[in-house]
Amino acid sequence: MENIFETHAHYDDEAFDEDRQQLLEKLPKQGVCGIITAGADLKSSVAAVELAEKYSYIYAAVGIHPENITENFDDNYLAKLEKLVNSSEKVVAVGEIGLDYHFRDDNKQTQKEVFANQIKLANKYNLPVLVHDREAHADTMEILKSANPKGVVHCFSGSVEMAHEVVKLGMYLGIGGVVTFKNAKTIVDVVREMPLEVMVLETDAPYMAPVPFRGKRCDSSMIKYTAEKIAEIKNIDAQRVCDVTKSNAMKLFGIK
Ligand SMILES: [Zn+2]
Repeated sequence: MENIFETHAHYDDEAFDEDRQQLLEKLPKQGVCGIITAGADLKSSVAAVELAEKYSYIYAAVGIHPENITENFDDNYLAKLEKLVNSSEKVVAVGEIGLDYHFRDDNKQTQKEVFANQIKLANKYNLPVLVHDREAHADTMEILKSANPKGVVHCFSGSVEMAHEVVKLGMYLGIGGVVTFKNAKTIVDVVREMPLEVMVLETDAPYMAPVPFRGKRCDSSMIKYTAEKIAEIKNIDAQRVCDVTKSNAMKLFGIK
């Protein structure tokens, strides 16, 4: 398989400390043609930009993940993110940002503010966002509808109805390893119902490895299994899944 474009991974993660360079040099030989590596706080956003500067096929997203909005959170985060956006041509998105009410639901107001502020930053530079939405569908949709960014709802976990709403906003559905899980149901319906033209592929590496690697450390070469599952659901060729989603990603992230 070729033309695997990974739109969401975390290659700064310590899970890759032992063999990061070896792995990142090997992935292009396994059909991976592009990767967006996403930050989750200021430190990992800096690391994402460094990786993007080092490898020609890697691009960076910078942002504060909702799980990292804590009491001693840096008030200056927006200015620091903006500086990072301007620091490299390889920064192609703001992310990973969003709402996570599973992780924490006692700071919803702060999560919403930080999410909305980062969307504003993305809109200012005409950059797409990588959105994390866990058990927060209603508030996520409300913010996306009012701010109207370009981007991806990563690891999409909503209903077919919500998928239609996301697409109506001009955003893409991020489809990852969950679709291969035995108990996957709603996401299978979403993949069956929605056209390939509104999907991008992703892993969330080092997490969310598809079957047959579920529970193991994930890397972008495993997208092959997700593409095969999507192809099976839609009764099309797996290479076509990669070709179309690659072209969706290049268009969205402005990559030539
Ligand atoms: Zn992620």
